[in-house]
Amino acid sequence: MCRHQLYLGPPVSLTQLLVEPPYGLYRQSWAPRDMRGGGTVNVDGFGVGWYTPTGPVRYRRAGPIWADPGLVELGRATAAGAVLAAVRSATPGMPFGETACAPFTDGRWLFSHNGVVAGWPDSVAALAAALPVTDLLTLDAPTDSALLWALLRHRLRSGADPGTAITDTVTGVLAAAPASRLNLLLTDGERAWASAVGHSLSVLAGPERLTIASEPSDDDPAWRPVADRRLVVADRHTYTVEDLCGSTSS
Ligand code: GLN
Repeated sequence: MCRHQLYLGPPVSLTQLLVEPPYGLYRQSWAPRDMRGGGTVNVDGFGVGWYTPTGPVRYRRAGPIWADPGLVELGRATAAGAVLAAVRSATPGMPFGETACAPFTDGRWLFSHNGVVAGWPDSVAALAAALPVTDLLTLDAPTDSALLWALLRHRLRSGADPGTAITDTVTGVLAAAPASRLNLLLTDGERAWASAVGHSLSVLAGPERLTIASEPSDDDPAWRPVADRRLVVADRHTYTVEDLCGSTSS
């Protein structure tokens, strides 16, 4: 399944963040270390979103990340203090293309999903039917990830706390499609929320910086794995890990 990564901290170049680390997202596209049976490589497109003073900017492509020399050039010239990036392994049956690649966005939000909605699309048809029709007509792509973003965004737009919105989205989808894998990753450029449901997730904290990633991007012993069915709530200074019902567990 896809791999995703979020960084909050002092500005770093996109190349430093994604390409240079020995096991960074770039390498994870062809040699991920912990896919847990969900695919082999992550070559079905990629996306990078980073924050500028006027809001997030997004760069997505349909092909493998290594096949895009533009990214390395752009990455050397672009530094940011908040970045969400993902490499995609399309779930069988889902369409290809840049619009199916994370990050998905709306206003200040950037979002990514690592996993699969089991029984797609029938299992979640009733959840989708509860969304405004225009949300369905304007989905980025007819994929499980794009629908998850529409479900979460609907809650965010109605003013829900982001952690609660993620918890409720995950809980609702698991009730309808229990075998789903739902690692969701959301940021507004200042804070971040990440669920671990069915896939690997790790956090590297400090000093004054924080990375949340599907897999550690280097051998730093400070990486901490996140247990399954947990929600990470973070900013660049600190983070908590809660169970998906909301009580803090570490
Ligand atoms: N199911 C999603 C897609 O096809 C996410 C893929 C993944 O995590 N491998 O885009």
